Amino acid sequence: MKKYGVNELRKMFLEYFEGKDHLVLNSASLVPHNDNSLLLINSGMAPLKPYFTGQVVPPKKRAASCQKCIRTTDVENVGKTDRHGTFFEMLGNFSFGDYFKKESLAWTWEFLTQIVGIDAKRLYPSVYLEDDEAFAIWEHEIGIAPERIYRFGKEDNFWEHGSGPCGPCSEVYFDRGEKYGCGSPDCTVGCDCDRYVEVWNNVFTQFDGDGKGNYTELEQKNIDTGMGLERLALAVQDVASIFDIDTVRALREKICTLADKEYGAEDGQDISIRIVTDHIRSATFMISDGIMPTNEGRGYVLRRIIRRAARHGRLLGIAGIFLAKLSDAVIEGSKGGYPELFEKKDFIFNVLNQEEMKFNNTIDQGLAILGEMEEKMAQDGVKTLSGEQAFKLYDTFGFPIDLTVEILEEKGYCVDMDGFSAFMNEQKDKARKARKGTNYMGADATVYEALDPALRSVFVGYEKLDCRSDIIALTTESEVTEALTDGQTGTIITASTPFYATGGGQNGDYGMIKSAEGEFAVKDTIKIAGDKIGHLGKVTKGMFKAGDAAELLVNHNSRYDICKNHSATHLLQKALRTVLGTHVEQAGSYVDKERLRFDFSHFAAMTADEIARAEQLVNEKVAENIEVVITEMSLDAARSAGAMALFGEKYGDSVRVVKMGDSVELCGGTHVGNTGAITAFKIISETGIAAGVRRIEALTGRGVFEHYASIERILNEVAASLKSTPLSVKDKAEALLNELKQLKSENESLKSKAAKDALGDVGDHVIDIEGVKLLAVKVDGVDMNGLRDLGDQQKAKLITGVILIISAADGKVNLMAMADETAQAKGAHAGNLIKAIAPLVGGGGGGRPGMAQAGGKNTAGIEAALKEAEKVLREQVGSFV
Ligand code: ATP
Ligand code: MG
Repeated sequence: MKKYGVNELRKMFLEYFEGKDHLVLNSASLVPHNDNSLLLINSGMAPLKPYFTGQVVPPKKRAASCQKCIRTTDVENVGKTDRHGTFFEMLGNFSFGDYFKKESLAWTWEFLTQIVGIDAKRLYPSVYLEDDEAFAIWEHEIGIAPERIYRFGKEDNFWEHGSGPCGPCSEVYFDRGEKYGCGSPDCTVGCDCDRYVEVWNNVFTQFDGDGKGNYTELEQKNIDTGMGLERLALAVQDVASIFDIDTVRALREKICTLADKEYGAEDGQDISIRIVTDHIRSATFMISDGIMPTNEGRGYVLRRIIRRAARHGRLLGIAGIFLAKLSDAVIEGSKGGYPELFEKKDFIFNVLNQEEMKFNNTIDQGLAILGEMEEKMAQDGVKTLSGEQAFKLYDTFGFPIDLTVEILEEKGYCVDMDGFSAFMNEQKDKARKARKGTNYMGADATVYEALDPALRSVFVGYEKLDCRSDIIALTTESEVTEALTDGQTGTIITASTPFYATGGGQNGDYGMIKSAEGEFAVKDTIKIAGDKIGHLGKVTKGMFKAGDAAELLVNHNSRYDICKNHSATHLLQKALRTVLGTHVEQAGSYVDKERLRFDFSHFAAMTADEIARAEQLVNEKVAENIEVVITEMSLDAARSAGAMALFGEKYGDSVRVVKMGDSVELCGGTHVGNTGAITAFKIISETGIAAGVRRIEALTGRGVFEHYASIERILNEVAASLKSTPLSVKDKAEALLNELKQLKSENESLKSKAAKDALGDVGDHVIDIEGVKLLAVKVDGVDMNGLRDLGDQQKAKLITGVILIISAADGKVNLMAMADETAQAKGAHAGNLIKAIAPLVGGGGGGRPGMAQAGGKNTAGIEAALKEAEKVLREQVGSFV
């Protein structure tokens, strides 16, 4: 049997089905699109669901793909079995109401036995218990002896998720040989051990189930098959595990080299080697699909996988940051099939490095604390870590709970998870209360809970900025009320309103509500649970009561400013993707009338040049005066129009698509009619706000002019105080700096001369100690730099020697000692000399043998110190042999 490599097998599979008239689809992203039921794509059919349900018409009735998959449900298996990874590639062929069992099973068999040449004697099909049709195909059409075909029950061979399309499966198992068996006398196909590995699963969606066990035949019958590429390679290459197939093995060996470990050494470390191998694959692919490590959802899956890999790497003894190095091997092995890996290489390395460093900082501390907790448990004979302690590790040391559980489990302990959850909920509760407390009259203020749930408000502000409507409810700061009177602050709710309520990153509108009897200044507009819109503000005249007819007037200027900022945010996002790359994803945004803020994923700080280019791109779009086209359409239509979904938002069936030239986004906000209305765009800051997340703040229109006006004002003021003009202020400043530099240098040489004068003639102070000359003198008013200069000057005058100069300056004492090489050869040591005498002037210090300095506070001790120096040097030289 020829041992095809992983990359060859992928190609052979897709070409085979292309030859059977299938449309070959690219792997979809690991991040599901428009599917909230899944965190990560876990099978080849997952991204194709709309074709199976009939929601979307497939481009062709036959398709085949190689889909990257993550299965977090298998994380516990990884390392322990030979066949599970959290990451794997799934090969699949699909029929959307086209061919059915007969063709699919025949192709399955042909591909395995003829195309890649696996020995048919090692393959065993299985069918669903009641699926005689499939059994007959295997037996009569394909020619497998009936005793080699296994029948399994629903749990293995029936695919069903609640109600809806479902059906029986037929699998093919590969027998790896007796040595992999569990040894049990009933070990056979279907055994949970690693001898018979499931390679390929054919799912026949032929029924519509009602979820209660009643099935009706579907008119459109589908085929959905899945074969793990790694498992196929395992069978074809006939190796011990998916960690031994060519591409994965190369990665595994790199890990062994880094850890200086041998795989298969039976020292219990193979599991860690396998875990690191698998997890680095998962992490690399997840990051390349734009997932960032965070504390929830798929971001948390990634964080957990990275941290697990980092920990097992440490268990193997790998020192320092290592994940990016391994990721490189993943990219090398898979870039042929997944070119995006190579394109995003630097980005992937950066994310891994940052996360690993962050983790390394907490892990030692956390492990130490956990170690103490374990010790205490052992002493007390307790087997369960309390919820409170687990929570402390999590809350104080950022130690992920599943890591705590995993580490303890390895040692036979467990964690009180209910207790942990209770602490966790308590913390969340506290946080929520804190929010409510500070966010008075915010959208979650409790006062709104007392409003009649039947009340609704309609937003009419896309089309107009004023309207008439009736007041349907009012609240004070603390309760629902019938009326608000002059001077009172509160909330007015009307049946319809042109005021935009804060949401989607756009600040609510400001303005005025008028009635026959009063005026109300609107300071903010918010969404209130149950489709209500609340106008927050203060009665400035008269009074308002429920049922009053009112006129609602949005402040035009502030609304226009908000629109400019919001539209510019869309242009900025597009510009950033052009300048920095398509890994840029929006991570949040906020616009109000003053400015816009845009957060996005990107690793390094932007360079001045990148900022300038992004700014210029936006200004070009502004100058092109592009019409802003806003349309309502179905989410699918929007996606095919190229709309970028906004971060973390959920949409109903119909979405609002905002298009400005080649910027297309789903957005519920308000916008200018033409990009020209933005007038001008200026980035005023670019900063990092979290690992891998940057924030840009920028201005538009009036804001830009005010910004430049204030810069101009400052420039004028600077020019005036330098007695210059704005245009010549640069020359003037340079001239002044030069002058300053010159003065500084003059000052230095004057100081040095003064120090020399202070020392006077030092010849008298030189004494000889056993052939080493010592100059020990006191000067006045010389700082440390001056002392060093002095020392250097005197050094030239002594033949062999030690120089000690002590200066009293500003009530402080500076000491400096130097010993030249010949003196050192005779035992002199400037550092020890200073150390010994510094206490006499109330100081401390030391240094190298050739040069040392110290400071002190006691000027009265200077004479004593000088005397002491003589004694110390005598000891140094005398004791030297
Ligand atoms: P198993 O029982 O071995 O976990 P499964 O029944 O979960 O397999 P399916 O859901 O039928 O597998 O997925 C289809 C194919 O995908 C399998 O036949 C197998 O080749 C592959 N596969 C499934 N899970 C993994 C995994 N964790 N790692 C590698 N390949 C996998
Ligand atoms: Mg499974």
